[in-house]
Amino acid sequence: MAKCLVLADIHANVRALDAVLRDAARWGAADTLWVLGDVVGYGAEPNECIERLHDRVCICIAGNHDLGAIGRADITSFNPDAAAACLWTGSRLSTASADFLAALSCGVEEPPFLLVHGSPRNPAWEYVTSATGARALSRFCPQPHCLVGHTHVPALFRMDAGMLHHDGASIVDSDLSLSAGRFLLNPGSVGQPRDGDPRAAFAELDPDEMTVGFRRVEYDTAGAAASVANAGLPRSLAARLLVGF
Ligand code: ZN
Repeated sequence: MAKCLVLADIHANVRALDAVLRDAARWGAADTLWVLGDVVGYGAEPNECIERLHDRVCICIAGNHDLGAIGRADITSFNPDAAAACLWTGSRLSTASADFLAALSCGVEEPPFLLVHGSPRNPAWEYVTSATGARALSRFCPQPHCLVGHTHVPALFRMDAGMLHHDGASIVDSDLSLSAGRFLLNPGSVGQPRDGDPRAAFAELDPDEMTVGFRRVEYDTAGAAASVANAGLPRSLAARLLVGF
């Protein structure tokens, strides 16, 4: 299987997405693209981001913001800024974009991986934030490994009884082996990182070698923040891009 570029939580940030695609193309890992949900929501370029994915061979999973934007999720649990952004997004989606989001599945099996947005138990909504949480959820995963997004923090957790537990900015630029054990992997967020590092996060997965590389790339955060503010979206959604929280 070709190397996969694993992305999550793009959140309508086209500057971050373009920077990731450019960086990945440099080292030839953009042949296959797996997107773990939340293409839209928070950011100001939902249609542009969906167009980028349309142009590529891509497996894309539905996230809670994707479902919310097309009226297929109850967004009463969203915080006020997220809910406002969700309504803004829904009003801006082109017909083609809405059709793209409506066709997304909440989970896809690509052996030996399960691809979901949140968790293997509750694919669109549940957060996995610890190795303990990953282990408790392992019985819901029909494949050896699980790829998730949703927390916006890069992580690699053992789902079986092992010690490995990496998360946050500390795993940037590390290449780790998946060959021994069962793993839950989160590439971090392309368009709204929350681990204190504002650079766009992504992962390079090599299914033949069973290795994963966690990457970061700088992009025009000031431009993205200005775009969010100019769109009339909540100011806090612009400010957080500059600090990565
Ligand atoms: Zn998200």
